[in-house]
Order: sequence, then C-alpha cells, then structure tokens
Amino acid sequence: MIELRANGERLWQSLMTMAEIGALPNGGVNRQTLTDDDRRGRDLFRSWCEEAGLQVSIDRMGSMFARRKGTDDDRPPVMLGSHLDTQPTGGKFDGALGVLGALEVVRTLNDHGITTKAPLEVVNWTNEEGCRFPPAMIASGVFAGVFELDYGLSRKDHAGRTIGEELERIGYAGDRPVGQRSIGALFELHIEQGPILEAEGQRIGIVTGGQGARWYDCEVIGAETHAGPAPMESRRDALRAAAPLLEDIYQVAHRQGPSGRATVGEFQAYPGSRNTVPGRVRFTVDLRHPDGGTMDAMDRALGQAFERARARHEGRLEFQLEEIWYAPPVAFDADCIEAVRQAAKALGLSSREIVSGAGHDAVYMARVVPTAMIFVPCKDGISHAEAEYAAPDACADGANVLLHAVLARAGA
Ligand SMILES: [Zn+2]
Repeated sequence: MIELRANGERLWQSLMTMAEIGALPNGGVNRQTLTDDDRRGRDLFRSWCEEAGLQVSIDRMGSMFARRKGTDDDRPPVMLGSHLDTQPTGGKFDGALGVLGALEVVRTLNDHGITTKAPLEVVNWTNEEGCRFPPAMIASGVFAGVFELDYGLSRKDHAGRTIGEELERIGYAGDRPVGQRSIGALFELHIEQGPILEAEGQRIGIVTGGQGARWYDCEVIGAETHAGPAPMESRRDALRAAAPLLEDIYQVAHRQGPSGRATVGEFQAYPGSRNTVPGRVRFTVDLRHPDGGTMDAMDRALGQAFERARARHEGRLEFQLEEIWYAPPVAFDADCIEAVRQAAKALGLSSREIVSGAGHDAVYMARVVPTAMIFVPCKDGISHAEAEYAAPDACADGANVLLHAVLARAGA
C-alpha cells in the first residue's frame, strides 16, 4: 500500500482550475465566502465530488460533506478537507490545497479500486477566513460546539447581510444538522503560511497544535473640527491619540519574544475628510501566541495600553476596547500526529514538528474529534496575498502524506 501515490499533475490541474474562479490580475484569488464566486467554486467542487462517486450533503451552516462509503460503513467517518473561501486578495492555495488534496486522495483510491474500512468525508467548511463575516472558522466552530447555530447564521458583513441570508441566496442553505455526530478522525492539509519549512528545506510539517488568537474591536472617540481655525492644543484628534497607542499595541507582542504577534489590520478614520480633524477612529487588533498563559498576559497588557492612553488624555477622548473572539491554543491528537509522522517517514519525506501560526478549522474540530494537520512549504512564507505560491511537488507531497495518514486511520 505504501507504493500508492496521489496524482500530482491532476491535483495541480484542479488547483489551477479552481483558481480561475475569482481570479485577480496578479495571480491571486478573491473568492470570499458566500459571494457568487464562492457559489461557482462550490458548484465546481460538488461536480468533481459527484464525478468521483461521492455523495454530497450540506449542513445548515453551508459546509459541504462529500462521502465515500467504507466497507464497514457504520464506522464513524474519517474526515479530510479544508476551505474554498479566500481573503479579498488571497492566493490559490490557502484552503483550496486542503480541499482539493482531499479530493485527490479519493480520486487516487478510486483509480486503484481501494475501499477503506471506515467511510471518508471530504469537507469544505463555510467562512474559514472570517474577513467578510467575523469571526473566522465559524462553521467548524458551530460544528464543534464553540458557537450556537443562531449565532453563526446571524453574523453580518459590512453591508448588513447575514450568513443565513447569503446561504439562501447562493443556494447553499443545507438542511443537515451541524455537528452532533461522531467523526473518527480529521486531517487537514494546508500550506504553512510561514517561512520555517522553506528556510530549513523540510518538505512536510507535522503540526502538533495551533497557537491562540484573540480579536478585538477598538474605537477612539474625540471631536471633529475644522482643520484650519482649530489650534492644535484644543483639538480632540482621535487619530493623533491613536498613533502612540498603536505602537504600545505592537509592544504587547514584542515583549513576548519571537512567538508573540500583534496586528492592526483594519483602521478607519471618520469622517474621512482631509480638512476635518478626525473625531473618531476604529481599528481591529489580532493577538496571537502558542501558550495560553501568555495569551492571558498579552490580553492584560493590551488593557493596560488602553489605560495609559486614557491617562494621557484625561477624559478628553474616549478609548474603547472590546474582545470579540478568543480561540485558545490547541494541542492536536497524539495518534493522528503519529499517523502523519509515519506517513511522511514511509514516503521518505523530510519533516519537522511545527505549531500552526494561523487559525484553521482543524483547531476547532480538535475539541471534538481526534485531529492533526499536515503543512507543506510555501514560497517566502507568504499567504493571504496574491503572491502566495506552493510548488507542484510540495502540493503532491502533502496529498501523499494525507493519503497515507488517512489510509492508516480509516483502514484498508
Ligand atoms: Zn486556510
């Protein structure tokens, strides 16, 4: 069985075909969740699954499950997949590699007439990215019991449309209950989205867990006034007050050494006029660290940064900080990690253990299902960008490790 190999060319072709949906001029993809392009991507994926003999079902969060029968079909299925939605200027591989790599596993088993003992389910999770509908990984989160279904369906985009409404609109409001069923194991293949594997010349990352992430909505409120007559001293300039606060926020991460992360990814000044002093700014903060205790310390340090800002402005400006989401650090299942390690070893692929820097559906699923992830290197560690690139060989390596880890777990 170890001689079995995925078809790297077919996988690459599928990745490139999927990337045509929502294609951007500089090689990237904009296929944000529940848009018309997401619908086209889902339709294509569904047609490929059906051609491969899989039975596709959709749950109430719109996640797609493509099932392949096992010889012992009453066993809990082994799940493999990722997400097809992207960032606004995303790449061809983030998410798509995990979904289409999983489909390639099934196609390879079909080619060789192999049926596993446990059934397999290829999954495409709704709204992994969270850029259109925060928070991220919402459908796997509902599946794992992190969020209530009503909470998931009622999340809104900037235009005020809900996930539930958009699922109806694109025809992917399924009727299957979300979660509440037994899954034997879950494997997610993904690009690393960081520089470590490439820098060390390792072909496979054996992912032992995921770091924690905290998201915040922040606002500074001052007062608008004319950019000409108002003297500098009298102003309650929200943007100016935010500037030193931002540096304080970055220091929250720097103080935790190389593993700390702090990002302000959205920033808006109002009213957004060049000759009006901004009366209000709103921005987001994203904090990350692999250790739960340190995550708590960073949360406290962020609160103190806001306290210092309040003290600097003595009640003349208001500083608001609201935590909207926390995903604690997660350790993956030892047996599933071992299945990945053994698969890489048997295939003769160099590997190292690694902690995921990004959030993934697998991180939520690990709360309720034995889970592991497989990373492959991506060029310069770049992701969430049009320049994101994983070489055909790396994609094929990942699919082969996924294939053999799944075979070990599902039995053949
Ligand atoms: Zn992803």
